[in-house]
Amino acid sequence: MTSPAHPLPTPIPKWAYAVALVALTVTWLVLQENGIALGHAAETVHEFFHDGRHALGVPCH
Ligand SMILES: [Zn+2]
Repeated sequence: MTSPAHPLPTPIPKWAYAVALVALTVTWLVLQENGIALGHAAETVHEFFHDGRHALGVPCH
């Protein structure tokens, strides 16, 4: 018996899309948030992630 030429794709559970969306949002907050979306809260978020931003090489000041 031989394997099929085009194996069936592995199904992706629906919750995986939600997890990916949350992960992308958190990554954006850590790397890019400079006040566009969060307003006054952006300064707190920036300070919270500040060392992490520099550890990842993101310029911020
Ligand atoms: Zn900095």
